[in-house]
Amino acid sequence: MSFDTLGLAPALLRALADQGYATPTPIQSAAIPVALTGRDMLAGAQTGTGKTAAFALPLLQRLFVETAPAAANGKRRPRALILTPTRELAAQVHDSLRAYAKHIKMFSTTIFGGVGMGPQVDALRRGVDVLVATPGRLIDHMERRTVDLSGIEILVLDEADRMLDMGFLPAIRRILGVLPKQRQTLLFSATFADEIKKIAAQFMRDPAEVQVAARNSVVATITHRVHPVETARKRDLLLHLLAQDSRRQTLVFSRTKHGANKLADFLEKYGLRTAAIHGNKSQGARTKALKEFKDGKVTVLVATDIAARGLDIDQLPMVVNYDLPMVAEDYVHRIGRTGRAGAEGLAVSLVAPEEAPLLRDIKRLLKQDIALENIAGYEPSRPLNFDGPRPSNGKPRSTNHARRPHANGPKKPHAAANKQHRPWQGKRDQRKA
Ligand code: AMP
Repeated sequence: MSFDTLGLAPALLRALADQGYATPTPIQSAAIPVALTGRDMLAGAQTGTGKTAAFALPLLQRLFVETAPAAANGKRRPRALILTPTRELAAQVHDSLRAYAKHIKMFSTTIFGGVGMGPQVDALRRGVDVLVATPGRLIDHMERRTVDLSGIEILVLDEADRMLDMGFLPAIRRILGVLPKQRQTLLFSATFADEIKKIAAQFMRDPAEVQVAARNSVVATITHRVHPVETARKRDLLLHLLAQDSRRQTLVFSRTKHGANKLADFLEKYGLRTAAIHGNKSQGARTKALKEFKDGKVTVLVATDIAARGLDIDQLPMVVNYDLPMVAEDYVHRIGRTGRAGAEGLAVSLVAPEEAPLLRDIKRLLKQDIALENIAGYEPSRPLNFDGPRPSNGKPRSTNHARRPHANGPKKPHAAANKQHRPWQGKRDQRKA
């Protein structure tokens, strides 16, 4: 299968060749021909599957190749809106969009919180064709009447499940309320909880459903390694593992912001070039850390789940779960940063005895057994107890038992998570990411 067979215009095919993409990913093969017809679409795909191109290419083709550009004297107003849960994802989607539009005339901008309104207002005033936005900041612009959404022809909801998890449902409803009814809506989500289906039923017209393989297929080229270790010895073990190949770029997941800072300081002290990325860091610091990591100036990036969400880091050789996530689903999101687009990846988890029940959930979700590998000198004093109670991290999120997917089917709605809306987050950009 090649991109030529998907019905894409030469200007887009050239951009793909420039990017070095030879073959479409499964979600691209499935979604592009459908989206090109102009039909609404619900697509099941997670980060790392190539989903950005799956919506960006048809969007560019429909709006900028197949239809005439706006009249020269008319004011340019946004024709497409792409909503993403986090600033980082917005920035990355925008970068990808620009790369795919390399041979097409298109003006675009990003709208997200944590940075000044001024430059965004200026960009909007000058006129743009495509907006990539997080819901909170977009609402701010709507309230100040600095954005005109009356010309939107295509709406993309990217990582819709994550937007709901982050409490953006009220904001999304408000935004949907002002968009023209005549439009194409493309909804991308890793999972289809009831709330997603409700949005689809309410705001989409007869959407085509596109789902690629099993949700966990993303991990096919990934080797999972679990090292049992006491919590107190995790940082020494991590140092030991990282020291074996200190040039290897590694993304390390920490459950808490505080833990991420402490761990980064520790690794830095032992000579590893490390940065931390989480919600208490300013936007500038986060962007800088990501850039330094991508440029190889920093070899270890310690991140919390939400901050790492959607990070576009190509072919990362190794991801480390310093703490296991409280929700098995997040394990799949985390390791989606390694083993991308066919490359081999390694997912290493440091698991304390009390975390064993979380590992059990992960194995159930992956439908895969993961062997335990003790590292000499770091073995815990007691064996992992898979039948024990799930540990609590003291946050409401840890009680989202309803989020745990059933072993044999798509994830069920996480009622608990949806009940604890954080409506204030609809008012401004998320702070916790
Ligand atoms: P995404 O899921 O959109 O975040 O994409 C994951 C990564 O795969 C990004 O770094 C893309 O640049 C890359 N990618 C997307 N489509 C392809 C493709 N057809 N071939 C190779 N790499 C791709």
